[in-house]
Amino acid sequence: MTAYRAQSGETVLIEAQQLDTLIQTLTRRGYEVVGPTICEGAIVYDRLGSAKDLPAGWTDEQDGGTYRLKRRADNALFGYVVGPHSWKKYLHPPAVRLWRAERGANGFSIVAEKQEPPKYAFLGVRACELHGIRIQDKVFLEGAHTDPTYSSHRANVFLVALNCGQAGGTCFCASMNTGPKAESGYDLALTEIVEQGRHRFVVEIGTERGAEILAEIPHEPAGESDRETAKRIVAETAGHMGRTMDTAGIKELLYSNYDHPRWEQVAQRCLTCANCTMVCPTCFCSTVEDVTDLTGEHAERWRKWDSCFTMDFSYIHGGSVRATAKSRYRQWMTHKLGTWIDQFGSSGCVGCGRCITWCPVGIDITEEVRAIRKSAPGGSPES
Ligand code: SF4
Ligand code: SF4
Repeated sequence: MTAYRAQSGETVLIEAQQLDTLIQTLTRRGYEVVGPTICEGAIVYDRLGSAKDLPAGWTDEQDGGTYRLKRRADNALFGYVVGPHSWKKYLHPPAVRLWRAERGANGFSIVAEKQEPPKYAFLGVRACELHGIRIQDKVFLEGAHTDPTYSSHRANVFLVALNCGQAGGTCFCASMNTGPKAESGYDLALTEIVEQGRHRFVVEIGTERGAEILAEIPHEPAGESDRETAKRIVAETAGHMGRTMDTAGIKELLYSNYDHPRWEQVAQRCLTCANCTMVCPTCFCSTVEDVTDLTGEHAERWRKWDSCFTMDFSYIHGGSVRATAKSRYRQWMTHKLGTWIDQFGSSGCVGCGRCITWCPVGIDITEEVRAIRKSAPGGSPES
């Protein structure tokens, strides 16, 4: 290694053991580093104290309603795809106290919550997840009103992306044009190479902030063969997606098939458990709950994740607007793939496959689209 200092826009090479230096450098600069770890048989996002916390030598097998970890033949640090967690648990936390109220001599006084979340560094953000964060940025930050909770958690996040070296059984980001390569929106982007007895990372520098962090990590310019290897790895990943989805005219397809018999068929299987919305990196719905203690001296208002699969979600005076499983599944899928485009200018699905893997009965959004497309009037007989 030389004293060469790379700039934003350049591509460099670091040895695998320098990943710990990256974690320590970010920690020293005040970031709480979060990344993949193993907990209860799954890869989940949690705080990283060092590179030893990463799931070295593990991979995952995923299919509809199926997830399991198994050992790899090598010691890759990122040799798996996404697990049940997404970064939204940090940016849009599952439960947030909005304010407290205390009874005093002159009635109740409201105590506002102070939003002082840690300064996060996310390590190992996949391309589909960058798109998921971008979608939530649009929802929470770019509408008529800015969400202060999301805004305070999102500010200053340092993003270390990871270009996927393998595709999962339920992945279809290539169909959604959201991966497997991170194209923008990161400070640093890594491609892991474990070949010919050498373990290293090709690092693309996305921002000046990324270049500053990298200046503290031994690195060298990436050679032509390392760049080509990184390109090949990502291209092979794109060619091995476990699922595909034909998105041509998908909004119009769904809008013209509200009464398709497939909605009834999927409703026979759907448990309306809401798992798909909890694991989805773009679903953002929440509810508000007020709680008091038994003395009546203290009250709190909480915001909690909610789901369009619950009966309460569409409850208005007299009952739920969407009282059947059929109407709730149709609402979810049509919003994700159709009305989301009208509302936010993009699909609400980034092709991460989580809703397929974590659906207890293995309902597959790609299969549901295919079934409607096949038998819709004028639909194409896609295989
Ligand atoms: S589609 Fe699957 S995960 Fe989603 S609510 Fe129905 S059963 Fe649950
Ligand atoms: S709808 Fe399913 S595949 Fe699409 S982003 Fe959400 S969890 Fe991922």
